[in-house]
Amino acid sequence: MKNQISKVPISLIIDDPAPVVSVYHAHSETGYTLDGRPLVAHVPNDFLRAFCSVAKERGLKGKFSVIPMPGNQGDILTGLHGVEDALVKEWLELVKEQLVPAFTVGPEMLSHHKAVNIATGEAMALREDVWASTRDRTELTPYIARALSMLKEAGFEAYGVTSPWAFAIEVEDEYAAAISKAVYEVTGRTEAWYFLRSLRNVPQARPWVACEEEGRTVVSIPATTSDHFWQTINTTETSDEYVNRVADELITKDGTEGEIIRVLETGGYPILITHWQSLFSNGLGTGLRALNEVGRRIQTQLLDRVEWKSFEELLQMVVQDQKNNPKR
Ligand SMILES: [Zn+2]
Repeated sequence: MKNQISKVPISLIIDDPAPVVSVYHAHSETGYTLDGRPLVAHVPNDFLRAFCSVAKERGLKGKFSVIPMPGNQGDILTGLHGVEDALVKEWLELVKEQLVPAFTVGPEMLSHHKAVNIATGEAMALREDVWASTRDRTELTPYIARALSMLKEAGFEAYGVTSPWAFAIEVEDEYAAAISKAVYEVTGRTEAWYFLRSLRNVPQARPWVACEEEGRTVVSIPATTSDHFWQTINTTETSDEYVNRVADELITKDGTEGEIIRVLETGGYPILITHWQSLFSNGLGTGLRALNEVGRRIQTQLLDRVEWKSFEELLQMVVQDQKNNPKR
């Protein structure tokens, strides 16, 4: 066999997007940024367009959440309170046309806010992560299956989930088994992924097989860097100098320093994470400018070492690796 120089996978997690509704605003306790400005409730579709063009220009790949009942304000199939149906539809179409398949789409459970009574659709009193913390697979499976089914009905092929906050981390084994079962029930697929854990400053941080049951495999894909874009929510600073400083945290202009480089040096996969609100920056879009700069630096300094991968591609890599090197 010919020796191939294989590049290290790099991927980007986008948490918390939903059509128009900002779940960050919806579940915020104060309704304000840390520097005292009211949080913006709606993210215009032009912002999604701007993200799509950055993703395309920089060749980004990864995972993009679509929250089916964002902030308990209705749902993406029958309508969202205070949002024109045409805008919801347009948002969903843009994601399908411009982000898939570079970005693997999955729900971030039902609301990323209050847990939903799936018999009635009503919001319960407690947050989804609090609700999940004491469940087992018999209750988690139909909850996850509902989220996957809603995305399926909206036209997405979803076979993995993102955990809102640290959803079900207390019962992770039950959770992984429930994801496997729900994905199989809704899509017939025997391979699934989920994002729950962050591995920072951990050598060789990479995805792993979290559950194998009844011939099905679930792969846990971790974030391996911090969301440095988050800080842009809480400031009106928008200078190029500031944007460059935010980007420096992940990769410096010359490509020699930053968290991405440190992950590579320890043999890990750089799996970057950010949030829809971190890129939107409460209407200023500073985070998206910083992401564009990070993407540009990766493009110019790092593409001889790394290769962008979607979550689907990461999942397949881990499954193949498992088949080639089965554990005894
Ligand atoms: Zn989230």
